[in-house]
Amino acid sequence: MEFPALFTFSQSSLQDYADCARRFQLRYLERLAWPAIETEPTLENERRQQAGQLFHRMAQQALVGIPLDKLEKLAGSPELAKWWQSFSADYPKIASAEKLYPEIALSAPLGGYRLTAKFDLVAVSNGKATIYDWKTYHKRPRNEFLSVRWQTRAYRWLLAEAGKHLNGGKDFAPEQIEMIYWFTEFPDEPARFPYNAGQFERDRAGLEKTIREISQAGEYPKVDENEIDKTCRFCTYRSYCARGASAGDWREAEIEAEIMPEIMLDQIAEIEL
Ligand code: SF4
Repeated sequence: MEFPALFTFSQSSLQDYADCARRFQLRYLERLAWPAIETEPTLENERRQQAGQLFHRMAQQALVGIPLDKLEKLAGSPELAKWWQSFSADYPKIASAEKLYPEIALSAPLGGYRLTAKFDLVAVSNGKATIYDWKTYHKRPRNEFLSVRWQTRAYRWLLAEAGKHLNGGKDFAPEQIEMIYWFTEFPDEPARFPYNAGQFERDRAGLEKTIREISQAGEYPKVDENEIDKTCRFCTYRSYCARGASAGDWREAEIEAEIMPEIMLDQIAEIEL
């Protein structure tokens, strides 16, 4: 299979490849929308995903200046109201930064392709940049698990590589960057990931190597059969791949599925290299 010359990589496509190369092929190369549900119970899972989307929208609206109490009226369920209360309690600290860039997208060339990311928030104060990512997971993942996710690595790398227009035209040093996962269900336990020059170089090499590997792979195999229980059970393509007819329970998945907003290319700030 010829790899598309203008393919744009994101943390979710890199993570899908890491989880299962065939899933990457079906989702990003063949753009196959498969109607199988990812997890059970279906309604509960859909409701949670919609609540997560609405929370992200409310947070974005707050960060562009809509009063928190006005937005609170949108919280149509006790769960969302609780999330909003927790967010409102932390909001003064989050919003006290000198500059706030909610829902900002960055992009940089790498390995012959482009890598892009859309951030929930980049907050800049005293030359220090904090990346916030809101997570509505019902279970708080371990820091060790989050630290090796492509999102943690790609977001910090992209901000150091392509974020100078957020810093008066000067690149952020990796040591000036920190990423925080803020959990609606666990507001007192954010996961913090500082950054340094060694990690920046390691991430550049790792991202570039992986992008080259994916683009030159030619074949995208299914995960091994002994991974069916862990990976295929929560995958939307499982009936297409003949990897089981029934979905796993979302409460048992290692990490909950999120609906990724499509990145609008015209919103992406380009950099010249
Ligand atoms: S069902 Fe399994 S093999 Fe098929 S794409 Fe999903 S994770 Fe990969």
